[in-house]
Amino acid sequence: IEPADSLVHALRDAVAAAPDRTCLTYFDARLSYREVDELSDSVAAHLAGRGLERGDRVAVLLQNSPHFVLAVLGAWKAGATVVPVNPMYKSAEVAHALRDGEVAALVCTDRAWESYLRDTAADSPVRIVLTACELDFQTRDDARVLTFERLPQAPDADDLVAVARQGGKAPEGRDPRPGDIALISYTSGTSGTPKGATNTHGNIMHNAERQRTGLALPEAPVYYALAPLFHITGMVSEFATCLNSVGTLVLTYRFEPGVVLDAFAEHRPHYTVGPSTAYMALAAHPDATPEHFASFVNIASGGAPVPPALVEKFRARCGRYIRTGYGLTECSGAAAAVPPGLESPVDPVSGTLAVGLPGADTVVRILDEQGAEVPFGEQGEIVVRGPQVVPGYWRRPEATAETFPDGELRTGDIGFMDPQGWLYVVDRKKDMINASGFKVWPREVEDVLYTHPAVREAAVVGAPDGYRGETVWAYVSLRPGAEADPDELAVYCKERLAAYKYPRQVEILPDLPKTTSGKILRRELRSRAQDNHAHDNQQ
Ligand code: ATP
Repeated sequence: IEPADSLVHALRDAVAAAPDRTCLTYFDARLSYREVDELSDSVAAHLAGRGLERGDRVAVLLQNSPHFVLAVLGAWKAGATVVPVNPMYKSAEVAHALRDGEVAALVCTDRAWESYLRDTAADSPVRIVLTACELDFQTRDDARVLTFERLPQAPDADDLVAVARQGGKAPEGRDPRPGDIALISYTSGTSGTPKGATNTHGNIMHNAERQRTGLALPEAPVYYALAPLFHITGMVSEFATCLNSVGTLVLTYRFEPGVVLDAFAEHRPHYTVGPSTAYMALAAHPDATPEHFASFVNIASGGAPVPPALVEKFRARCGRYIRTGYGLTECSGAAAAVPPGLESPVDPVSGTLAVGLPGADTVVRILDEQGAEVPFGEQGEIVVRGPQVVPGYWRRPEATAETFPDGELRTGDIGFMDPQGWLYVVDRKKDMINASGFKVWPREVEDVLYTHPAVREAAVVGAPDGYRGETVWAYVSLRPGAEADPDELAVYCKERLAAYKYPRQVEILPDLPKTTSGKILRRELRSRAQDNHAHDNQQ
């Protein structure tokens, strides 16, 4: 069969092949492929009826629920571009996406609309609003996740599920073309003001197809959505890949370790992908047993570094190997991955795990500051060329020219390659700590901290230092019940790292700040270090 050129077409092919197969589960609810197709058709008909035109933008602020899927597919069937926005964003962050994306329609929860989005949207181009109550589509009252009440329907919004159930056909002639912008994805903002990467339908389908053929999953595969769907990893590696494989996508609203383990036991998934912090939380859960993970053919981690010590801790506790992948929003989630059946080699010098082998049709090169390719083993900036690389940033010609010279993506990550083609990520260029002129990559120090049995999470940042310029500080959180004192952790690192690399200060926090997609926010810790430093200087 010809691979589909958009998820709208993939969905139609799936309905033709297996109309009654379960497409989505959400607690006790199940929706078949035929139902998802009909409900999303109706959403598309409504949006077009309200005047939404081809190429208009629809912002979706929802967690992992059927509402998210219906809103996205409905928008695409109406020919629109989706702007997925993290539902945990504060008003100013949402306002940025609504204005920058010049968004015409907004889909969010009834609670968010009432509590802040009505005000946020007042000063934006939004003119169509659909609200959703996550209690629809599920009957089991899982108080660990779904604790809210249904609100009366707002007069200035329509109910998404009522609209979906109205019936109606998607408008004619609006089917997405491969070059159309499917998503404006604002990058997760771990390092500054979000810019919107424009993922085309072709970009997404390239990665969805690569995963469908490359993951070695059985017929009718079951995917558990561990990464949030609003993030590119969830959107492409879970949602798009699942639909493109005519699989079942298990949704449980948001990450809650006990609920995730129950879903594993009930649905026996074959594949999931999430940040390494989620796997740490699962491995630390008192109920976790290898049986929970026994159905998995592949467990993947992407979007953030995976410390080698974590992979081993997870294998010891949960009986499964975590396969890493490397990618950015700007390359639609993935540029390299560890193929099924293989394990990442560990670099003998740095002890880092390889993040993967570049995908088919993807060329990964390592360049020095002058833009020349460096020999194997030498560090430089990772650049990516391939069909998953987006054409640029939304309405930012300068940033586009800078990040995508000649269509090639400058990732801003430092890495190296070995002669077998394995890619290693050292760290983000901008996270390098300059201690008396010595380069310290936070990752290397974090990897050492993760080998300490008491450490659950670790993040290393540069703090201003009058003598050295910058100095290394570490923030850690401990495993439940574990004990360690900061000095002991500093000494532990000192014994294992060159003298300029070990942290001069270690602070233990109950939890490290993270994005909702689970990435540790070094940026926040850097400001904390700066504040503490300023405070120390005043004393
Ligand atoms: P912002 O650009 O606003 O800082 P972000 O960079 O976190 O946000 P994403 O596109 O979600 O936005 O993340 C991509 C980055 O995640 C990569 O550039 C890289 O630094 C990091 N990353 C992804 N996969 C890996 C991996 N396997 N190992 C190490 N780092 C990774």
